[in-house]
Amino acid sequence: RLDMAGRLAARMGANLREEVVHAVDGVSLAIPAGEVVGLVGESGCGKSTFGRVVAGIHPATEGQVFYRGQDVGSMNAAERAKATLAVQMIFQDPFASLNPRMRVSEIVGEAPLYHGLVDRAGYNDYVDDVLNRVGLDPTLKRRFPHQFSGGQRQRIGIARALAVKPEFLVCDEAIAALDVSIQAQVINLFMDLREQLDLTYLFISHDLSVVEHISDRVVIMYLGRVVESAPTEELFRKPNHPYAQALLAEVPRIDERHKTFVAIKGEIPSPLDPPKGCHFHPRCPHAFDRCKVERPVLREIAPGRHAACHLNDQPSV
Ligand code: SF4
Ligand code: MG
Repeated sequence: RLDMAGRLAARMGANLREEVVHAVDGVSLAIPAGEVVGLVGESGCGKSTFGRVVAGIHPATEGQVFYRGQDVGSMNAAERAKATLAVQMIFQDPFASLNPRMRVSEIVGEAPLYHGLVDRAGYNDYVDDVLNRVGLDPTLKRRFPHQFSGGQRQRIGIARALAVKPEFLVCDEAIAALDVSIQAQVINLFMDLREQLDLTYLFISHDLSVVEHISDRVVIMYLGRVVESAPTEELFRKPNHPYAQALLAEVPRIDERHKTFVAIKGEIPSPLDPPKGCHFHPRCPHAFDRCKVERPVLREIAPGRHAACHLNDQPSV
């Protein structure tokens, strides 16, 4: 499946223009079809921006987004429309992203009707099918978003995305606003849909235990840069990058309550004026002279594992 499916990658340029904040700086990430990739980092690290660029909502000021091996920027209108539909975004706050004046049936059915995925005659059945898929009672489809609970509204948001038959979902803090009991249900829905529809996910979250639970691979960002990318189990067993180590040490684990929380010292610097060299050096317990002047590049440290830290170039003692 992987070879025929190609890959989706996004790259954004590293050149800074004075007045423009580049939230995402030289990030390059390939997401194989069928994988769940978790994208984590503190708020302001650029993960939402990255998700929006991947989903085509936010233009990349530089660099390219590839879909199935093809540069989206060089596609013709028809190809681009197809790629745009194939990548859908699920937002944190379903209420803010649902038009309050539209009935659920319109919210879900509008785009597929517009794009010719269904005609007027099949419209009702089509909407019912999608609502059934996300566990919403189709008999409620004449209602408006405010008549539903938070969890149901997120299901409406998911239904709207699924209605255009996407292959890839970018979920930006998609469960963060929900009650904990509802979060588990929505995560299970995402995982069921993955099985049933062969979906690929970019799952953006600040919640490391959720990411650990659902992701095949985890990408960690810090101030607009990817600092580590690794298979989930390997990363959680032995994080390489000092920022990843500090972040993972902060995860409260039910089975490791005795574990000391290692607070990351210092504030997150402003993305407007990130530290030179390694962005993490003012907070890094292992920083040395080179870190203050030279930017560490993301490179392979083991098969399928990448990290950006000068320590990986040091001869091991
Ligand atoms: Fe720390 Fe230097 Fe590695 Fe950056 S490059 S994470 S400052 S050791
Ligand atoms: Mg965000």
